[in-house]
Amino acid sequence: MEPALLLNATYEPIKVISWKKAFTLLFLGKVEMLERHERDILTMQRSYALPSVVRLLRRVKVTRKPIQFSRNNLYLRDDYTCQYCGETFGPSQLTFDHVFPRSRGGEKSWVNIVTACQDCNRRKRNRTPEEANMPLLSTPREPRWTPFTMNHNMSGAHENWKPYLWG
Ligand SMILES: [Zn+2]
Repeated sequence: MEPALLLNATYEPIKVISWKKAFTLLFLGKVEMLERHERDILTMQRSYALPSVVRLLRRVKVTRKPIQFSRNNLYLRDDYTCQYCGETFGPSQLTFDHVFPRSRGGEKSWVNIVTACQDCNRRKRNRTPEEANMPLLSTPREPRWTPFTMNHNMSGAHENWKPYLWG
């Protein structure tokens, strides 16, 4: 059954929870439902909307672990999209580009690595985006979200979670 994304009262994503847990929180009045799955839950009496995104009504303190700097998490952050041409690719067609070139001392970090397709990476060579006249679609940053650091697999993320994850 479909999981739900749990948000703090501040709309920050906290974690992914089971649909049962989401229902329990709803019935206890601890969360409000912001998004629903297309499917309903049927019981003997009636059908219920299946929560997809729920938000806590009272803020809880969350201790954030740093997000692992990994191939998967970079793809997730950049949504499998080449940050130069804006096209979406499968992982096997994507590469990582050092925004400030490695050959010139560019570091391997959240703020200096972006997802790029093979063509764009080849075209950019060891130049900066300015030198190559290839502006970045967005400024690379360390991601804020945490739900996928444990089970980082995009198949678990739903279309209607995205606005909350990349806020
Ligand atoms: Zn590209």
